[in-house]
Amino acid sequence: MAARILLIEDEQRIAELIARGLQNAGFEVDFVSEGNRGLEMMQARDYDLIILDLMLPDMDGLRVLEKLRNRKLCPPILILSALGAVEDRVKGLERGADDYLSKPFSFNELLARVRALLRRGQPVRERLQVADLVMDVTRRKVSRGGQPIELAPKEFSILEFLMRNAGRPLTRTAIVEHVWEMDYDGLTNIVDVYIRHLRSKIDDRWPHKLIRTVRGIGYMIDAGEKPAGKPAGT
Ligand code: CA
Repeated sequence: MAARILLIEDEQRIAELIARGLQNAGFEVDFVSEGNRGLEMMQARDYDLIILDLMLPDMDGLRVLEKLRNRKLCPPILILSALGAVEDRVKGLERGADDYLSKPFSFNELLARVRALLRRGQPVRERLQVADLVMDVTRRKVSRGGQPIELAPKEFSILEFLMRNAGRPLTRTAIVEHVWEMDYDGLTNIVDVYIRHLRSKIDDRWPHKLIRTVRGIGYMIDAGEKPAGKPAGT
């Protein structure tokens, strides 16, 4: 399977040149010209590598970098910058870029860096499990009792967050902030809607429910069996 690369670069000419070159080299490439658009793409698809320009029209590339790095699983990031200043290079690397290339650069140089990063970034397959619910985080696949379950990207993110915190109640606000990466003040009801969707997919058909409502707090996923109607301690 071809590695998939996301290119965030606003200079059309350079973006097309890079995209075409990488495609010719056998990679799958998506390109966008705005930071926010890039972040959206990251939510929707899995990438093996991000190529990020530092000077973007809508937001500073370093800010994009920070947001990318806040994610649990972030592919390697190669920074492109016309600035080339030592200070930017240092800032970029400090904030979690894996490599840095100053413009102008030769395409072969870029290709060499891309290949090196992809080799280094071979993903370790990460797997989360709660009872018979299994999430392959790397491949973004979910199954329960061996039956595959299709989830929308946001549903997947919420479930991943719950599973990473299994046994711990999470507030609606925490879920919103984690999954939407912003303050959805007053919109925490959206979490209830998504939890309903999730329940219909991973719990409704099974007698043993995994997602619990924690009154006054929010939600929790938990494997523990607590048969109803039985007093504690018996
Ligand atoms: Ca630019």
